[in-house]
Amino acid sequence: MENVIIIGTGCAGYTAAIYTARASLNPLLLSGTQIGGQLSTTTEVENFPGFPEGIMGPDMMMNMQKQAEKFGTRTEYATVELIEKNNDGTFGVKIGEKTLQTKTVIIATGAAARWLGLPNEKELVGHGLTSCATCDGAFYREVPVAVVGGGDSACEEAGFLTRFASKVYLIHRRDELRASKIMADRVLENPKIEPIWNTAVTEYLADEKGEMRAVKLANLVDHSESELEVACVFVAIGHVPNSGFVNGLVDMDDDGYLIQVPGRTATKTPGIFAAGDVSDHYYRQAITAAGQGCAAALEAERYLTDLE
Ligand code: NAP
Repeated sequence: MENVIIIGTGCAGYTAAIYTARASLNPLLLSGTQIGGQLSTTTEVENFPGFPEGIMGPDMMMNMQKQAEKFGTRTEYATVELIEKNNDGTFGVKIGEKTLQTKTVIIATGAAARWLGLPNEKELVGHGLTSCATCDGAFYREVPVAVVGGGDSACEEAGFLTRFASKVYLIHRRDELRASKIMADRVLENPKIEPIWNTAVTEYLADEKGEMRAVKLANLVDHSESELEVACVFVAIGHVPNSGFVNGLVDMDDDGYLIQVPGRTATKTPGIFAAGDVSDHYYRQAITAAGQGCAAALEAERYLTDLE
């Protein structure tokens, strides 16, 4: 029987691990498929306090992992399928054929990239369709590429891609960016980035080898259609929380974000805590996720003390 199982290895999960490990709770951390979470696929992080020169996202996550393991966190590379509540108030956490038993669970599974939902999307991922400029940008040198979206992520990806691509089209469904002013200004001032406003991608067009060749576009104002040749499409239209395994033990909002007790990381089920992007569609920052990971660890520790 574990004291605490932490699900997820982003900022929230690692912070919860550091705190529970230092509290001698001997936490077990389940990694999920994307070890290090969303920051493991980003470039420079400039807004995490304590790094005046900035730090690369993957480096920051490796540091968090080292810090968690230094205090005794055990990591298991597994994806959770289901959480079940036992009759005595403890929990079963199902990973493959195995069910781990624990007194508390901290859910810190974050969120995953949202896709457009077009017919041949699945087949094209990795063949000129991606959600990660940092991972795939360098493959597309001196060719035109497109970014879809109008938020900070889309702007950040578009800026990054100008290092490689001959041209970056920023395709947005409205005529105004959602991104923060500083990010939007950077994009709009960059001569290599061409915004395409009021436009939706309606089809991905592949060549005979199954690689992205072009996209079909629909203008949402005058309803005209066009084709745009691009070697890669970077989809940056937000995220979907990774919450599908909670099995009714935690309430969700309409978008699947876990609902916490107001002002806390506790959920409707005593012993289950939620932290980070899986329960936060509002701030979605590394530092707020880390803060929630800390809060969840403290709440889990107090819950365990009350059990004794
Ligand atoms: P976001 O702010 O939710 O923006 C999503 C963008 O995608 C919006 O422009 C939205 O259009 C568009 N979109 C959504 N669904 C779409 C669809 N089905 N088809 C076409 N377009 C669609 O998401 P984000 O950019 O990933 O940012 C998430 C959070 O992380 C934000 O709080 C952001 O500030 C933060 N962030 C910060 C940084 C940084 O500071 N360095 C970098 C990245 C992200 P509409 O505008 O029309 O809704």
